[in-house]
Amino acid sequence: MQLLRSNGSVTETVYLVKGERFYSHQGKLQGMLLTATDISELRHRELALRQSEVELQKAKAEADAANQAKGDFLANMSHEIRTPLNAIIGYTKLCLNLGLEGKLQDYLYKVDVASHSLAHLINDVLDLSKIEAGKLDLESVTFSLIQVLDNVRHVLVLDMAHKPIDFQVNIDDSVPHNLKGDPLRLQQILVNLAGNAVKFTEKGEVTIRVSLDSRANDPDIMLAFVVRDTGIGMTPRQLARLFDIYHQAEQSTTRRYGGTGLGLAITRKLVDMMGGDIDIQSEYGVGTSCRFRVSLQQGDPAQVPDAGISASPVQQTALSGCRVLVVDDNAINRDMVGELLGGLGVVVDTAASGEEALVQVGSVTYSVILMDIRMAGLDGLETTRRIRERPESRSVPIIALSASASHSTQVACLDAGMNDYLSKPLDMQRLIQRIAHWADPGRNKIAGQPETVSAQLAENEGTLQKTAAVFNPDGALMLLNHNHRVYRRLLAKFLEQVDERASQLSSDGSAKKRYFAIHSMN
Ligand code: ADP
Repeated sequence: MQLLRSNGSVTETVYLVKGERFYSHQGKLQGMLLTATDISELRHRELALRQSEVELQKAKAEADAANQAKGDFLANMSHEIRTPLNAIIGYTKLCLNLGLEGKLQDYLYKVDVASHSLAHLINDVLDLSKIEAGKLDLESVTFSLIQVLDNVRHVLVLDMAHKPIDFQVNIDDSVPHNLKGDPLRLQQILVNLAGNAVKFTEKGEVTIRVSLDSRANDPDIMLAFVVRDTGIGMTPRQLARLFDIYHQAEQSTTRRYGGTGLGLAITRKLVDMMGGDIDIQSEYGVGTSCRFRVSLQQGDPAQVPDAGISASPVQQTALSGCRVLVVDDNAINRDMVGELLGGLGVVVDTAASGEEALVQVGSVTYSVILMDIRMAGLDGLETTRRIRERPESRSVPIIALSASASHSTQVACLDAGMNDYLSKPLDMQRLIQRIAHWADPGRNKIAGQPETVSAQLAENEGTLQKTAAVFNPDGALMLLNHNHRVYRRLLAKFLEQVDERASQLSSDGSAKKRYFAIHSMN
């Protein structure tokens, strides 16, 4: 409002004018009282505020656009980097399989390791940018918890190969095995936490424990996981900034162990997205315990995908047409391996003893021999020595199969002339991988060296343990890669054998009772 002053000038001052009528006692309008308050200052502030609000909006829009551009750039770059990187990883693997010798093989091995850690880093960066842009969607599919935990174990096996670490997985009986949620993201959380546990532990134990935290409205359940290690631990100061992006406990830790400091930040965000929480306790020099909860649903067992036993295209090429001799005095083992490999186009011969094996090796050229170690008569070690004495079978790959994973057994196997070592119970997928590896004429000689053996040893030591389970059908199915058909056949065969053996037993009541207890469970 502009006011005309008595001197004729016009003010630019802003007034707030309030008018009030006033009346006589008789109620007659007498006049009006006008009060003008100078609110120029207030008005200016209001205008300034509006102006800065507009500017703020503009700046926010610009920042959002920049952020979006950064996210898109990161996503594009990660993709662009991943494509050539996959080629590097793939071709390096092919070169490694050529079985080159000496330095060349060593350099390729280093390229292989480095390219895998680069791929890991890029995946982390991509995940983080996706989560921050709200673009990471969780899946909701039915899955097997055992399968997820087994995958975690497979991922960590190599990292544990050179360390005396006892790796255990315990699942409480109350935990349902068939769940609904995002198995890959759950696996990622577990691999991050258990991967750190293994990375920062030189010796001792790494355990994963799963329990049922609470059962909300059916079918919702809250599962609690604890990943515990006896490693280097952290100080309270290090713990305080643990979930910060790019944060690592100490520079010296980074130099020694590597890493990006992204793992826990991503882990926390994934746990949040799964409606859970995470808490890490640690004592410097003693160990670390990471507890997290995630909300999942109980899954319908009928919908759990049947993983089946399969060979990758490269493995399939190596396997097709090759001929394998299975030497084992246990009919179930011979059957199981025969059934599995037969289905993959491998010709399988079997021998029930070392003596039988020697006869067969004399008349057929095998691509690979699978050799049980403990057999009546000629044992696997002696049979191998005799095979190696023959010039024509000096180089046939022999893979030991043994229930004992002790170091002395591995050494004895290598000394006897075997190339590789697999421990029982046999993991079928791994068996395929090793046979494909050795059956390939350009095989990688490195794999027969002790690190493979100790990787297998670590794997065996970490065999999934289900608390208080005597007969573990889930574990058995897992070892057969959830091939229900083979599982049923082997179970029937096993029961036949049990019956035979039970009738051979003397009238020892307690032994019989045990057999029948197992029998009646099925
Ligand atoms: P990184 O990729 O570096 O391992 P993380 O976010 O997973 O990144 O971990 C951040 C840091 O926290 C690590 O560098 C390490 O210093 C510390 N840390 C994580 N887990 C453990 C553990 N189990 N024991 C000791 N230190 C750990």
